Amino acid sequence: MQVILFDIDGTLISTGGAGRDALNTALEVAFAVRDPHPVFLQGRTDRGICQEYFAQHGITATEANWERFQAAYLASLEQHLTSRPRTLLPGVQALLAELQALPRLAVGLLTGNVREGARRKLTHYGLHERFPFGGFGDLHPERDDVAREALAAACTHTGLDLRGDQVWVIGDTPADIRCARAIGAHVIAVATGDHQLDELAAAQPDVLVTNLTTTAEILEHLTSGL
Ligand SMILES: [Mg+2]
Repeated sequence: MQVILFDIDGTLISTGGAGRDALNTALEVAFAVRDPHPVFLQGRTDRGICQEYFAQHGITATEANWERFQAAYLASLEQHLTSRPRTLLPGVQALLAELQALPRLAVGLLTGNVREGARRKLTHYGLHERFPFGGFGDLHPERDDVAREALAAACTHTGLDLRGDQVWVIGDTPADIRCARAIGAHVIAVATGDHQLDELAAAQPDVLVTNLTTTAEILEHLTSGL
């Protein structure tokens, strides 16, 4: 058995800034914060991003405030998603179709999005049913912990006691590469997000690709342990 864990933003889809805009709308609607401090989003978890916004704007990091933030974020996400073009990143559709046809492979998510945000984004792009399990950004400020959650979810999904070296992570940031290492997984870095090839190379992925269109080459790596 081999497990493939996909990041979402910059790897499967580009929302054209809908995610950032929904975060900004949430801050304004729930906490009357306009023009929030710029916060780096790439490769981070929603929980971690929210904590940084709260710290920057003097909002107490209570569970109730986190719930308020999440509710406002989810309420505005759909509108932001539908107001711009739907961009599936190159090669994604073909690669997912090939993976689904292969036996002894389980395909899931390893994303900093909250679970419901991931569901809404992927449903908007017609991809949600491809990912029956995953690790999400609801509980963990650090992406390494999301990787641990995703591995545990893969074990539950398959009913197997999987090792990290049976897992491939596919993501577009140095944080994706680091979190894969945290669980002993292999990693393919793809330069379809905001990080250039040289930045990703510096974080030493096992495989580095410009995009996911080289389906045969990528499949060869992903199935090498089968
Ligand atoms: Mg990403």
